[in-house]
Amino acid sequence: MAVDSLLQSGMASPTTSETDVKALKFIEEMTKNPDSVQEKVLGEILSRNSNTEYLKRFDLNGAVDRKTFKSKVPVVIYEDLKTDIQRISNGDRSPILSSHPITEFLTSSGTSAGERKLMPTIEEDINRRQLLGNLLMPVMNLYVPGLDKGKGLYFLFVKSESKTSGGLPARPALTSYYKSDYFRTSDSDSVYTSPKEAILCSDSSQSMYTQMLCGLLMRHEVNRLGAVFPSGLLRAISFLQNNWKELSQDISTGTLSSKIFDPAIKNRMSKILTKPDQELAEFLIGVCSLENWEGIITKIWPNTKYLDVIVTGAMAQYIPMLEYYSGGLPMASTIYASSESYFGINLNPMCKPSEPSYTIFPNMAYFEFLPHNHDGDGGVEATSLVELADVEVGKEYELVITTYAGLYRYRVGDILRVTGFHNSAPQFKFIRRENVLLSIESDKTDEADLQKAVENASRLLAEQGTRVIEYTSYADTKTIPGHYVIYWELLSRDQSNALPSDEVMAKCCLEMEESLNAVYRQSRVSDKSIGPLEIRVVQNGTFEELMDFSISRGSSINQYKVPRCVRLTPIMKLLDSRVVSAHFSPSLPHWSPERRH
Ligand code: AMP
Repeated sequence: MAVDSLLQSGMASPTTSETDVKALKFIEEMTKNPDSVQEKVLGEILSRNSNTEYLKRFDLNGAVDRKTFKSKVPVVIYEDLKTDIQRISNGDRSPILSSHPITEFLTSSGTSAGERKLMPTIEEDINRRQLLGNLLMPVMNLYVPGLDKGKGLYFLFVKSESKTSGGLPARPALTSYYKSDYFRTSDSDSVYTSPKEAILCSDSSQSMYTQMLCGLLMRHEVNRLGAVFPSGLLRAISFLQNNWKELSQDISTGTLSSKIFDPAIKNRMSKILTKPDQELAEFLIGVCSLENWEGIITKIWPNTKYLDVIVTGAMAQYIPMLEYYSGGLPMASTIYASSESYFGINLNPMCKPSEPSYTIFPNMAYFEFLPHNHDGDGGVEATSLVELADVEVGKEYELVITTYAGLYRYRVGDILRVTGFHNSAPQFKFIRRENVLLSIESDKTDEADLQKAVENASRLLAEQGTRVIEYTSYADTKTIPGHYVIYWELLSRDQSNALPSDEVMAKCCLEMEESLNAVYRQSRVSDKSIGPLEIRVVQNGTFEELMDFSISRGSSINQYKVPRCVRLTPIMKLLDSRVVSAHFSPSLPHWSPERRH
């Protein structure tokens, strides 16, 4: 591995900066003896939080060792902590989960009762997250030299935030970071083409326009392109498709479009867009007016070395589209992180998009691993959890964490497979999130969410004497933005099998959207990162054919269950060949930043 060889070579590479050497040394230090780091981390968490109400409930009596902790403290899920979290969000400042005051909640894209989960955070957490974030470029520099000579075109956005009834901010982790002094005072201009004023602008259209304009103006300096999710990068391409004329106009005249009225952005852009650049404008018109946009990224940004975007887990569905627009550039999945804690980084970021493994950093939190039992009933034996240093290559585990901010033995819900080790630290492939059927971006829709949405929507058909007899779903990411497709097989009471009108079906689409969780609705309404939900009605008998198909491929007839989400191409083809009508949601569902309860 490159990190090793670099260190073994005495770190004397003339191109490696002092900061990078320091970061690489730290990586070695953390991965050489993860077990002792873990012991220390748990000891720190338990000793500083020994006076918390939560830990006192389990009579640890000041013990800080792993054995006592594991024998006394239960493994939990969010629902088990909801009452405590609710008290903190209502303003109770006593040490309930953490002895350090909770300064804000990070809103997870995981949901509970349809609302985002609230993850407690303490002030120092941002340093821990930064520590891991600061390792990414030193690792990348090992594989791609010269990145410091150019800039990254990253499409970064703040999302809407709210305050809990007790006055604590509740917002996504990255929004919290962009609004922090860390980011505001950082020298981001030397690293990113996007001005801070654009990243911090809450109007996503003005923000996107400005970020794209700056990316175009600095096109020769750009040596990497990125976004948090691949869907974000694809939306930027789609934005360019719809706005290149206006952007070229701004460049050819040296003046900013009147669409941009945010004072901070205008002020900043008056220093960036200072003169007309006819040559650049003509180049853009030439490239963007072509029918074929294959490889557009490398045409406009010819020095791009890679796409900085997570394509593991549910995001793998975007790989073909990214390959198309980038002409096959490498895709770097660099970090594995969540609102609960940051977990680890990819030490081989230029690997194939299907291969990333993340090395979990033992200083981030205390980690345990619940052996993943494919047929399990979900029950957990607290003693069956494995230490970070003891996981076995090839086995799958669910991640369980204990954090400084006061989550104790908390099931994250991610299933990981051990692929190998860096020094003594295990590396994990992200397999999937438990119970997620559909995901376009940060939304996560599980089987129960989907079932409830279908039930609510199908009530609208009852008046017509029609029922939904079977359904399945699919995340269509070929459209930009992607959207949910739900296949319905219908049965009408009067045998006529007349289909409900498009108007009624469109209402069903909207009713489904209204029933889906807050993250879905926010993505639809505020972020506009998900397109209108589509229902495709299929011919009668289609789901029986689906069963025949599965049985012909080896499923047992007794155990056959209708899959509530489909991904296999032959199944998609079968379903699509039986579609009799397709309907889209006609308007946006309701969503507001305030929580429902
Ligand atoms: P959130 O708390 O909303 O930031 O979501 C965190 C979740 O996103 C994790 O628990 C994972 O399920 C997923 N996730 C984060 N990083 C990655 C990654 N690199 N690859 C795949 N899934 C990821």
